[in-house]
Amino acid sequence: MPIRPELVRELASDAGFDLVRFGPADPGPDGNRFVEWLEAGRHGQMRYLEDNRARILDPRLWRQGVRSAIALAVDYGGPAAVLPGGGRIARYAQGRDYHRWLRDRVFALRQRLEAAGVPYGSMNGGADAVPVLERALAVRAGIGFLAKSAMVISPTHGPYLQLAELLTGMELPPDEPAPGSCGTCTACLDACPTQAIVAPHEVDARRCLSYTTIELRGPIPGDLRAAQGDRFFGCDVCLEVCPFTSRSRARDLHGDQRPPDLRPHQIVQTWTLVDVLAMDDARYQAEFTGTAMRRATRSGLRRNAAVVLGNLGDPQALPALIAALTDEDPVVRSHAGWAIGRLDHRHPALAAALARESAPDVAAELEAAITGG
Ligand code: SF4
Ligand code: SF4
Repeated sequence: MPIRPELVRELASDAGFDLVRFGPADPGPDGNRFVEWLEAGRHGQMRYLEDNRARILDPRLWRQGVRSAIALAVDYGGPAAVLPGGGRIARYAQGRDYHRWLRDRVFALRQRLEAAGVPYGSMNGGADAVPVLERALAVRAGIGFLAKSAMVISPTHGPYLQLAELLTGMELPPDEPAPGSCGTCTACLDACPTQAIVAPHEVDARRCLSYTTIELRGPIPGDLRAAQGDRFFGCDVCLEVCPFTSRSRARDLHGDQRPPDLRPHQIVQTWTLVDVLAMDDARYQAEFTGTAMRRATRSGLRRNAAVVLGNLGDPQALPALIAALTDEDPVVRSHAGWAIGRLDHRHPALAAALARESAPDVAAELEAAITGG
């Protein structure tokens, strides 16, 4: 049964989306950009992108009968999120896991559409969990324009957008492209701490802190650790410097003004980096479940905590870092050694750790920490 496009917009708004637009269900010319990016190896360890390449380029391969995309977005802008004592968290990750609350909203929209006569099985949707180029679909539908930071910027809501989509067998009239562009601005390219934006619209994930602190398993490349600064999970620099952030309607909402899903998790309010470094698996399982930070794994979170403690340079972190030199996880041992080297490269704990270290990679890191390398 045909459904009025305006009703779809109303139902999406009822389900909690700030923006809803209609567009093609495939990424169009941006698919070529994606292929070039993959072939240049800029996706790093994100093998799932390679593995799903064909389906990403043509969603009809995994869902037959798809005709249109309902592109959806939530403006999550808000205050910076910093752990007590230091350790910055990307804004999107400070509350409940966004996969969960976005999926809840997509599900609520599907239910409303079904009640309005759209067969439930004719819709497929997700939020960062199905193999589609979300940003390309959002741009094609007119949610925003593709920015030089490779993010999508809404002319009405700015760049702090969580994107989702519902692929549907309905034929919906496509919306106009969103007006606007970055113009001559290069603020994000200039401010990126790791020079990860290698060209306008192109981010080398291997250098991007949103990848190295979250997706990357194993050691963080040595040349990116100091540049990580106080960023414990993710990075918002290219968003923070963007002049379009002033368009975010959620940016100035604090405390109870914010939707419950977007309020800071108790970890963000009460944990320190030392707590993270020292956390055992039971505590990780109990406390991080339901947060987006869990994506980094326990090993990655403790690795990140060590790097930031080294960068913050607070000698009070030394006992926790020294204890981490005996950790069973070689990634934690090597990053703790690196951090101690930043604080005091002559500290005798480094030589003692080197003397007992059996893993060659960790031993090399400890030697470099001792020599100030
Ligand atoms: S998220 Fe941070 S590291 Fe990544 S491109 Fe943006 S500013 Fe650079
Ligand atoms: S900072 Fe400037 S160049 Fe970068 S995304 Fe924003 S407007 Fe575009």
